[in-house]
Amino acid sequence: MKTNLAEFIKSTPEGKEADKILRTCVHCGFCTATCPTYQLLGDELDSPRGRIYLIKEVLEGNQVTAKTQLHLDRCLTCRACETTCPSGVEYGKLVDIGRHIVEQHVPRSPVAAFKRAALRAVLPRPAIFRPLFKAGQAMRPLLPAALKKKIQKPAEQDIGWPEPRHARKMLVLDGCVQPTLAPGINPATARVLDRLGISLVKDELAGCCGAVTFHLNRQEDGRDYMRANIDAWWPHVEAGVEAVVITASGCGTLVKEYGHHLAHDPQYADKAARISELCRDISEVILAEKERLEEVLGSSLSSLTSPLFSASAAKPRVAFHSPCSLQHGLKIRGTVEAILASAGFELTYVPDSHLCCGSAGTYSILQPELSQRLLKNKVEALESGAPVVVATANIGCLTHIQGGTALQVKHWINLLDERLT
Ligand code: SF4
Ligand code: SF4
Repeated sequence: MKTNLAEFIKSTPEGKEADKILRTCVHCGFCTATCPTYQLLGDELDSPRGRIYLIKEVLEGNQVTAKTQLHLDRCLTCRACETTCPSGVEYGKLVDIGRHIVEQHVPRSPVAAFKRAALRAVLPRPAIFRPLFKAGQAMRPLLPAALKKKIQKPAEQDIGWPEPRHARKMLVLDGCVQPTLAPGINPATARVLDRLGISLVKDELAGCCGAVTFHLNRQEDGRDYMRANIDAWWPHVEAGVEAVVITASGCGTLVKEYGHHLAHDPQYADKAARISELCRDISEVILAEKERLEEVLGSSLSSLTSPLFSASAAKPRVAFHSPCSLQHGLKIRGTVEAILASAGFELTYVPDSHLCCGSAGTYSILQPELSQRLLKNKVEALESGAPVVVATANIGCLTHIQGGTALQVKHWINLLDERLT
């Protein structure tokens, strides 16, 4: 695609990056086939190709309007278009640049601005989010149906974190909302890794990965969360932790890109690049320990205590929802399914598994109608194979899908933990 970027952006790092990305797009439109919003709305401007065109217009100095903002807001940032694109267009990076500029030019209504400010103030801060969530749970019977769906019982209880006892150590990100919504995910991860000869440790000073704030277009504030995590983790890195383990693929996508987002910060660039190098989704860690896992699974075959296993002699049927952040962001495909299959679960077929469930960070709150349509389609697809449980790999998808199905939705590491118990 030919470009002629405007003076205000041309020579900046963002301008140079956007120009490079725009030039790789050949306008073929293959990406429209897998774009969830184009499938729902049928409008070219709600497709990746249309949005790329809108961003090009903005960067070339043309008028930025509320319509431009609307079509960029409707994008889920699911990055299915990146997986489909034959030219390797890095749409995710381009839309970050485009949205940031549009936000500076198009004011939001007071209600919309308040909503975004409230999300930025509450979600990344467990000290505010946890009591509000607990108050919401207490008042759940009185809440409207839409809100009730969002305030569920915590998905997994914390039943204990093993004492660090191994020479091999890895760090884990606790994140912001996950410890409240599903407090049992990271302890289960610690128990599984403990069985594999790795001690999982966390640093209480680390917090939100920065994604909530960054994707609400406060990108510099989002970078501050990244810097705070780097500061918290650095002593552990110097002490030799093998990896920074992430159990929410949405957070993992951003932590893998810390190096990119802080590349122009002289104080943090090198450290951020090192953290990105060390960042591993938990599925990558387990895959690397496959042989040890098989040994442990072999030795535990005669002592199955998982309620899923005791329910029937047949293999428990699991529908796995692969989050967009896992399959399109981190580009990890088939790994979790292979781990679950080797642990004795039967994976059901999930049609259109490349499509987003509609959670997409704060999308389910800011674009409720589109989000609910995607959720309905996703739940139908997940339930179509008659599973007994749904598994996923990201806290946002877990709580969103749980709001649309009577089946239990779990993080897959909890299934593996139950299997090893
Ligand atoms: S983003 Fe990729 S698939 Fe979409 S129009 Fe451009 S080159 Fe084609
Ligand atoms: S990120 Fe997802 S919703 Fe946005 S343009 Fe790409 S495929 Fe469509």
